[in-house]
Amino acid sequence: MTLQIRKIRMAENSIASFIFEKPAGFSFYPGQYLDVELPVDDPNGKTRAFTISASPTEDFLMLSTKNGITPFKKHLVALKVGDKIKTSHPAGTFTLDEKSPAAMIAGGIGITPFRSMIKYAFDQKLKASITLIYLNSDANFPFKKELDSWKQSLPNLHIIYHNSSLSGHLTKLPTTIYQLPIYYLAGPPKMVDSFERILLGIGVDELNIRYDRFDGYK
Ligand SMILES: Cc1cc2nc3c(=O)[nH]c(=O)nc-3n(C[C@H](O)[C@H](O)[C@H](O)COP(=O)(O)OP(=O)(O)OC[C@H]3O[C@@H](n4cnc5c(N)ncnc54)[C@H](O)[C@@H]3O)c2cc1C
Repeated sequence: MTLQIRKIRMAENSIASFIFEKPAGFSFYPGQYLDVELPVDDPNGKTRAFTISASPTEDFLMLSTKNGITPFKKHLVALKVGDKIKTSHPAGTFTLDEKSPAAMIAGGIGITPFRSMIKYAFDQKLKASITLIYLNSDANFPFKKELDSWKQSLPNLHIIYHNSSLSGHLTKLPTTIYQLPIYYLAGPPKMVDSFERILLGIGVDELNIRYDRFDGYK
């Protein structure tokens, strides 16, 4: 599939969001990703996975990423409005169960699937409760403004921001989320593995834990 860039947003926290024209008939579930292939000579290959950070209810597609040092990332952040990129079809089973309460745990750029899911919940006025625990290494939480504005009219959405540079690593979860049936973890593999251990340690059934490990982040 080929996607054309409509707009690029560079945020102060070295996060770039690429907004694409949405091809007619394009459909996906909140939380799915695309494999992006760029014409680069990179020891780690020409392809990376990126979650679609837009919701299916929006009239555009969006991929968001952190600047990096690899040839792939350098090529990506040098792209301009109007450029086209090659991608797979949407893939992945890390998707929102619309009816079940959700506890989402995001590490940094791991917010991308949750930005999609929460915007979807907001637009569809979903009733199930959502608790987002959002960990970041500084105070510049990507998409914070949007998340806070959706929270105003989505009474079932609760957000806990955790800035690890001020408060250290989070090693315990608030007990209020212990009874929630589906846990979604997304972010660097180490962070995902550590929260999986915490959840299993407090007796959560592994069948109720879903995860997206963002390879390439430490
Ligand atoms: C399902 C899924 C969804 C994902 N969604 C997103 C998303 O929404 N946004 C996002 O940003 N990422 C996402 N990722 C991760 C993404 O695919 C990339 O792995 C990530 O962005 C890092 O890419 P990279 O090219 O910077 O590093 P990679 O090529 O993946 O390299 C891994 C690491 O190796 C080190 N490294 C590589 N080359 C060098 C070098 N020359 N010198 C020194 N160190 C080096 C760097 O520390 C780098 O971070 C997702 C991954 C998966 C599996």
